[in-house]
Amino acid sequence: MTSPTLDRVLDAIVRVDPDFNVKFVSASGRRWFGGAAPAAFPDNFLAILHPGDVDMFRAASRGTPESFACDIRVLKDGQENWINVRGYQLPDVQQYMMCIIDISAWKTDDSVLRHAAEHDDLTGLPNRVFLKHTVEQCIEAGNLPFSVALLDLDGFKKVNDTYGHAVGDAVLVETAKRLNRVIGPDDVLVRLGGDEFVMVLFDPDVLAVNSVMTRILLAIARPYDTSPHNAYLGVSIGVATYPEHGEDYSTLLKNADRAMYHSKNGGKNRVSFFAESAESADLSIKSAIHDGIQEGEFFLEYQPQYDINRCLVGAEALMRWSSRTFGRVAPDKFIPIVEETGLMPFLGKWALRCACHQLKQFQELMPGFVMSVNVSPIQFGGDDFDSLVLEAISEAGVDPATVILEITESTLMHSREQTERTLARLREKRIRFSIDDFGTGFSSLAYLTRLPVSSIKIDKSFIRAIGDPPADSAADKKLITAMINLAHSIDLKVVAEGVEKEEQFSFLKSSGCNLIQGYLLGKPMSAEAITSLLNITAGTVA
Ligand code: C2E
Ligand code: CA
Ligand code: CA
Repeated sequence: MTSPTLDRVLDAIVRVDPDFNVKFVSASGRRWFGGAAPAAFPDNFLAILHPGDVDMFRAASRGTPESFACDIRVLKDGQENWINVRGYQLPDVQQYMMCIIDISAWKTDDSVLRHAAEHDDLTGLPNRVFLKHTVEQCIEAGNLPFSVALLDLDGFKKVNDTYGHAVGDAVLVETAKRLNRVIGPDDVLVRLGGDEFVMVLFDPDVLAVNSVMTRILLAIARPYDTSPHNAYLGVSIGVATYPEHGEDYSTLLKNADRAMYHSKNGGKNRVSFFAESAESADLSIKSAIHDGIQEGEFFLEYQPQYDINRCLVGAEALMRWSSRTFGRVAPDKFIPIVEETGLMPFLGKWALRCACHQLKQFQELMPGFVMSVNVSPIQFGGDDFDSLVLEAISEAGVDPATVILEITESTLMHSREQTERTLARLREKRIRFSIDDFGTGFSSLAYLTRLPVSSIKIDKSFIRAIGDPPADSAADKKLITAMINLAHSIDLKVVAEGVEKEEQFSFLKSSGCNLIQGYLLGKPMSAEAITSLLNITAGTVA
């Protein structure tokens, strides 16, 4: 649970239960507390606090349940030390992980004033002074790669001018909360001033950093409740990485800022990674994808779908990239990058054509076999999306009624009118739609009744809870049953994905679920492997 990076940057990592009973202390924490001869760390974290700060600490930890941060005094070797504590609620267990930095060295006699100087009153986040200290400490700690992301809100000035400063302030506080929920315990979040924030991320994997950035874009895109109307904002992000893009604090920040301007100039609400020549970097990933398609680095796998009697009825096409440069990349990671570089329509079109072509071959062995294809919101919003789908289907010569497009709830929430028109036009041609990852977004079944959708796919997070003690709960089963019953009441079929256990299968069967997809019955596999399954089904073993 502790990474070497964290251990070098932080003075202590302590995990506690809701009563602050200590469950774990990092080796660095024991050293920090005990000096040369590690003294026993007390059983309760409150015991190390200065008695005058216990109440303040309790209040801080109760304020926001998911995460909190505060500066407090501790008594160590009979001396008063200042620490900065950031606590994060751990999922599933009722415990907090607390990251502790000893800040005594930069607290002088006027420590109260210093505290104010290092924190932002409005959001409670650390500020520029803290950022500089943290980044310099990371650099000093060794040659560890980390990234600095500079975030600048788009449209904040307008909100401030239209609704006034009080609303502007509320938006900044809400932004801080949203960002805090996205960052991991490894990361640091700072308000630089105005509507600018900075994150320091310790994941050396650029794709992982990119996926955090995508989550930030989504978090900020949610409406801000500035009653009586909602406000909509975006965020332009620039990322620079140590040591490639700067070996000191000011160079790193300057280059993150340059990358951020690249995002602003490129149309805002996007992420740019610093590159000496940003254009050439953009071009190189674009050409890697173009070449990758030509060279066969991209391919599809197919995960079989079964009816409730375990008869094979269809498959979902899943994209794969085995890149010469980056190795095997998971779709969750490369799809956001492809979307960002504007190549999703291109790659999506390729996937659709490839899946339809393969479907034709599967149908020679089993007429009526159904193919589900994932569609990204970006693709769906494109002007020529419907003609592209119709072309792929007619080119392959398959019946449109055997193609299902999987769209997510976020696709539906984007420009509703245009989405509804596109859905209606394709439905008229007998193409079907399924709502992927159902239950994880914001749409309601009531809204779905208005749309020409034919099935929902219950997200695997719901299925996982079944037969998984202690998570297995009557409540989860009730929820799934309710989803199935409601869907059936408005004539929607229900697909369950991520089915891994017999127990899950039998529960879904008894609840009336229509189709099953998951490792229990079949992992994603090559077209050849599906062909063998179809041959077996047809009784002509290959
Ligand atoms: P998804 O559409 O929800 O796809 C289902 C994912 O669940 C697949 O992950 C599949 O391998 C995984 N899965 C299936 N059964 C099980 C199971 O029993 N247990 C567990 N733990 N996982 C299971 P994969 O292939 O990594 O794909 C991830 C996501 O990438 C997909 O999620 C989809 O959103 C996206 N994606 C994949 N192919 C395409 C594509 O062609 N176009 C677009 N736009 N997105 C795609
Ligand atoms: Ca899917
Ligand atoms: Ca899904």
